[in-house]
Formats: sequence, structure tokens, C-alpha cells
Amino acid sequence: MKNMCDLYQEQLALAIENTCFSAECKEEIVEILKQPKHEIIVNFPVKLSNGHLKVFKGYRIQHNNFCGPYKGGLRFHHNTHLDECKALAFWMTVKCALQELPFGGAKGGVKFDPREYSTDDLHKICKAFARAIYKYVGSERDIPAPDVGTNSKTMDWMTAETRRLNHDHDFGVYTGKSLIFGGSQGRTEATGRGLMHCVEKWAELTGAAHISATDLGENHQILKDRTFILQGFGNVGSFAAKLLTERLGMKCVGLGDHTGYWTNAEGFSIMELRNWVSETGCLSRGPGCAPEQAVDKLAFFSQACDLVIPAALELQIGEEEAHALQCSAVIEGANGPIDTDADRILTERGITVVPDVLANSGGVVVSYYEWLQNKRCEYWSLEKVRNDLEKRMDKAFNRVWSKAQELKTTMRIAAYVLAIERIQYAYDT
Ligand code: GLU
Repeated sequence: MKNMCDLYQEQLALAIENTCFSAECKEEIVEILKQPKHEIIVNFPVKLSNGHLKVFKGYRIQHNNFCGPYKGGLRFHHNTHLDECKALAFWMTVKCALQELPFGGAKGGVKFDPREYSTDDLHKICKAFARAIYKYVGSERDIPAPDVGTNSKTMDWMTAETRRLNHDHDFGVYTGKSLIFGGSQGRTEATGRGLMHCVEKWAELTGAAHISATDLGENHQILKDRTFILQGFGNVGSFAAKLLTERLGMKCVGLGDHTGYWTNAEGFSIMELRNWVSETGCLSRGPGCAPEQAVDKLAFFSQACDLVIPAALELQIGEEEAHALQCSAVIEGANGPIDTDADRILTERGITVVPDVLANSGGVVVSYYEWLQNKRCEYWSLEKVRNDLEKRMDKAFNRVWSKAQELKTTMRIAAYVLAIERIQYAYDT
């Protein structure tokens, strides 16, 4: 397996070859994009409720801001590290440009396991991290959001602390906040919902051959009883599973998280598992997920299905898994779940990959809506957010699909080419 910086730099090198830039321009853009503009590392002390003082390591990587203020999530995870944040920040630059948002890319986080801390201590850690980075963020400068291990509460605490320090009323400095504190309708479900729209588009554009013409407008008919396996049952995975099963009638035949992997040809009850996970924090011992029925990771990825949805962490599908997959397409809910060699194998095997920068972009799209609402002091209805998100996802999917056909390449490379052309124009103009 590669490390994450190798992965994004290899993806960038492959993509740049497919642009129509001059050799000199290609070289310049790669030089600019292969490193972030700013790498901010902070070590901040927190006096925990047990009386002990602990110093936490936090990161904010500001990758690129040619297209607008830096934008991207903050993750709390015990393995968070500099290279990971650099790769994730790069993907945010590409994602925002692909979605034609007025943002650049950033990512950050704190290296610790939030599950090991009380709410009281999490509150203290968030406020202290907000103080450590407040000079670098702002609604016109850098706008963080939730990611792995963080949520709306995290964003509320950090927004409140930043506003206090700045003596201002700017809610737009963080997105993904609670509704009661300047958040947007539909933000929590947005990444999963955006992924569902990608599945619908994929079915419409590739599944058309298998279905009758009258079914074409009704995607739930196309996808009814089609199967998927899902790795990761956090915010992205659990909303995606809910929407794919409830709205599209699909069947989840494999599930996994940090506690194990399970398969079930009859299909898991996603509603019951969502309740279980919200109470216990993991899939293990939930309905259909007894520890003694668990399978190993390779058996999970070998399960026959229509779609594989990695929605956990990066670098989960390597060469071995890529050879084992028995599916038509992989929809990347997580960022960077497939390494470059595995990506090549999937292409050779004719398995479509809907890349992360498109498939999970629903989250940052609705973050953009939240930022706009904050700027304009508006509150949009859930219906408006959902409709606008669907239109934007469909448009982006169509653009990537057509570009891939035109260049005879993968959707990932096509997405990168579209994004890089936009970034290059902003740089050169
Ligand atoms: N963390 C999410 C992502 O990776 C959302 C970022 C945002 O809303 O700024 O796309």
C-alpha cells in the first residue's frame, strides 16, 4: 500500500497528462498543486476534567485558494497525521473546483480518539483547538466543517469560541453547525444524499440497457433489489445506506466498520442498525452482526453485489481487494479509499469507479449553501436545499461522465481534468 501523499501525487500526475495545457504549464500546475500553501501545526494544552493537563496535536493544512477561501473538514482521529491532512486538503481543492464552488481546499484535525473522552472534555478540547487556530480561519479565509469524528456540536463550540475571540457575529466561519446555531437544513444527510444521486445517475447512464424505457424516469424501479456492500457506518455510510434502501429499494448485503465485517444475502435492516449504532457506537452485536458471524475483510470485499461503497477511511482497497471485488461499480463515499494500483486493476476489470471528489461532494455543496445563508441572513427550506443539491450533483456527474467519454478515460481522471482546468484558469487570469 502507498502512503497518502504518494496516492494524490500519482493521481495528479496521471490527470495532468490528460489536460490540453502546454508542457510548461503542466509542469507549473503540478509544482503548485503537489504541495499545500500552508501547513499549520499546533500543540495546545487542555486541562481535562480529571485534573490532568494534556497537550494535543492539531493540524490545519491550507492547500490552495485560487478559487476562493480554503474549505474543508476537521477530523478527530487517533491516526490523524500531517501527510493524511495534506492529501485530504488536496482532494478538497479538487472537489470544490469540480463542483464549481467559490472555495479552495483545506483539511485539518486533532490526533486523538474522541470516543475516549467525556462530552465535558470534548467541549474543552474543541474550544482550545478553536483558540489555537482562530487566527488562520474566517468566512473569507478558511472555513472548516465536520469530517471523521466531528459533528455539528463540534462546529458549534468552535464557532462560538472564534466569535468570542474576534468580537464578531460571523457564523460563516464554520459550516456543518446545528440548525439552532446558524446551520443549514439538510447538511447532516448531505454527503449520503449526494452519494445516492450519484448512484441514481450511474444507474441511469449505465443500467439503461437492462431496463425498459418506461422505467427510465423512475430510478427506484431501475435499482429495486439491486445490491450493495458498505464499509463504514458513520455519518456518510449510514445516511447512504438509509437512502439507498428506503428510497431506491436497494438491498445491503454486506456491512463493515472498525469492529468487523458481516455479509447477509437476504439484506440487513438498515433502520434497526442505525438505531443500534446511535446507541452503541458500532455495528458489532447489532441485528445480523453477531461477532461469531463476522467474516474477514477479504471475504467481505469478495461478496457478489452491484455496488461497493467504501465509506470509512482512506487506502482500504489495495491490489488484493481490487482483484477480489465482484461488482459493477465502486462509489467512493470515503476520501482516497482506493490506491493507485488497485484503481488500475479496477479499470482493467471494467469496474466503474465514481471518484470521491464527486461521490462525496454533497457535504461541501451543502456547506456552501450554509455559508451563503449565513452571509445573507437567510434560512432555506429543506426542500430547497435538497432540490439544489440534486441539481448540482446531477450536473457534476453529467460533466464528469461526458469528459470521461470524450477523453476515453476514467471518471477520476475526467473529474481531475475539469477541476484542474478551473484552478489553472483562476491562477493564470
Ligand atoms: N469533510 C467533508 C468532505 O470531506 C465536508 C467538507 C466541508 O463541508 O467543508 O468533503
